[in-house]
Amino acid sequence: MTDRPLVKVENASCWFDVSGPWLERVLKRRSRIQLKAVNGVSFTVNKGETLALVGESGCGKSTVARLLVGLYTPTGGNIEFDGQPVSVLHTREGRQLRQRLQMIFQDPYASLNPRWRVARIIAEPLKVHGQLSREEREKRVDELLLHVGLSPTDRDRYPHQFSGGQRQRISIARALAARPEFLVCDEPTSALDVSVQAQVLNLMKKLQRDLGLTYLFISHNLAVVHHVADRVAVMYLGKIVELAPRDALFSQPRHPYTRMLLSAIPDTAGTGKRRIPVAGEVPNPLNPPSGCPFHPRCPYVRDICKQAMPATVTDGPAEVACHGVEQGWLSEEPVLTQPG
Ligand code: SF4
Repeated sequence: MTDRPLVKVENASCWFDVSGPWLERVLKRRSRIQLKAVNGVSFTVNKGETLALVGESGCGKSTVARLLVGLYTPTGGNIEFDGQPVSVLHTREGRQLRQRLQMIFQDPYASLNPRWRVARIIAEPLKVHGQLSREEREKRVDELLLHVGLSPTDRDRYPHQFSGGQRQRISIARALAARPEFLVCDEPTSALDVSVQAQVLNLMKKLQRDLGLTYLFISHNLAVVHHVADRVAVMYLGKIVELAPRDALFSQPRHPYTRMLLSAIPDTAGTGKRRIPVAGEVPNPLNPPSGCPFHPRCPYVRDICKQAMPATVTDGPAEVACHGVEQGWLSEEPVLTQPG
């Protein structure tokens, strides 16, 4: 792992226009409605590290993933990969860049073409980038199957002939085919059984060590994140509310939302620490609360929280967006958490 940022995201936003049809809006005198899926997000991912992005469903983490690989165009802000804007991914010059970043999707059942044999699935990116001869492609497919713990004899089988974990291994082999440096992994193990999850996570860690890969790892599961991440960014309603090195985040969570998420991890060690119960639901992003978006669920809420959006401040190794942290009064409150 190095301190050199491979990926740099500065104040990135992604808004979707979800207004009704024009005529209906005019007749009913309704204004346009914007869904702010991602709203002013900034972070870097250093070469060789794993940055995890966590949060409940609907917080905008998958939208960030899609922004990074160019599947969505940002409404505002900058996203750079190795010093180049990812907007070039859609141009002829961006072809080389496209090869260097790949995505692994959540559902290996849906992301593999059921009518293609494994060899064709894995070789497809090599064909698209068109750098290898047919023989070289065949050799590379065998190499990749071995890399992900499958056998070259699996090349002629179809996806339905494999288990869920094996299918995710095929997805990983396909993502690695063009020798990328950066993988965006969107909940890569959440569709798998717990025992299989651990095997796939271990494989991903091994591949990272062997091939020098950099990961953005998206998950709603903090136990999984603890296993793989070097740093963790916690998202809530389109914003990053806390970003810290993994150990600092798990041992001393600062933001009340991070504390709430950690409280949800089962206390298998039987520490008996007091917890923040996971209360309430993520508000409707079309009608977000005023001030701090977490205030309707926060046990530490004060008046200022309902009025002003907290700025992101540095607190020790962490960056946190919370008035209580910024003004110091949160540290006087009882810490209700269970860092496991
Ligand atoms: Fe809670 Fe206020 Fe901090 Fe928001 S700003 S997380 S409401 S203490």
